[in-house]
Amino acid sequence: MLRFAVIGNPVEHSLSPQIHHYFAEQLGIELIYSKIETTHFESACNGFFLEGGAGLNVTIPYKQQAFALDANHTARCNAAKAANTLWLDKNGKLHADNTDGVGIVRDLQKYTDISDKSILLIGAGGASRGIIPALKQQRPSRFSIVNRSAMKAIELANEFSIEARHVDDDLNGYDLLINSTSASLDFVLPSVNIDYLDEGAIAYDCVYHREPTVFMLWAQKLGAKTCVDGLGMLVEQAAESFSVWLGSMPAPELRKNILQKLRVGL
Ligand code: NDP
Repeated sequence: MLRFAVIGNPVEHSLSPQIHHYFAEQLGIELIYSKIETTHFESACNGFFLEGGAGLNVTIPYKQQAFALDANHTARCNAAKAANTLWLDKNGKLHADNTDGVGIVRDLQKYTDISDKSILLIGAGGASRGIIPALKQQRPSRFSIVNRSAMKAIELANEFSIEARHVDDDLNGYDLLINSTSASLDFVLPSVNIDYLDEGAIAYDCVYHREPTVFMLWAQKLGAKTCVDGLGMLVEQAAESFSVWLGSMPAPELRKNILQKLRVGL
């Protein structure tokens, strides 16, 4: 039986097993997908593959450590310098990919055409590394990043040739606000100097929750009509990992169905 898992800390609330088991069942593929919570990423990862594991998803806080493993990296993984998808080929060679970027782009495309939008990305952690190159490929009209720790935003801005802003700058006027901080998990807002949003603006929170996140509620109050959480991104990045591992992309209908099931079960 093919074995997959998500590895990170914490992972207890991960919905990845449900998503992958659903795709596998619908596509007639037998697999087991489990969760590995560890404080020793590299040894847990090696142990999993030594015991015959086929593939891993990597979540916080290990995406950059996963990239540092001796592996063949896909182009998008090299661009991100962070990996969320690992697998062994027939010869026992490790491969690394990053599907977060394609995940958020596919989900955002359900709501808007990114190509003509001005984007403000809030947050400069591991998730941002995967997201930035994928969004950049969509050729937004403007692409800025801001972060609580200003230096991290400046570093990513320099690395990816986008614009660094400061939390105290006047940050009004963007079309698409993406919150890639983990602040919503603590029910707090990232501090940014924004006092209004246009009706047509989109606020996207990478975090997902049973109720609208504090970021979504804040954006709604400031005028944005479209406020979305990251559950769709989670499903899309999972579908892409599934396809990378098994060569079979779950159809849009399957992705929509599992998204609805998860939404009900949250
Ligand atoms: P990291 O730990 O690497 O980065 C956390 C980021 O959040 C940093 O920019 C940090 O700022 C910022 N931050 C944390 N708390 C606050 C706060 N109170 N106020 C302002 N900024 C804050 O995490 P990741 O980048 O890997 O992940 C970020 C979030 O995105 C996580 O919650 C994760 O679950 C979610 N995610 C969702 C995915 C999906 O598929 N839906 C996929 C990937 C991630 P600073 O640098 O100043 O510390």
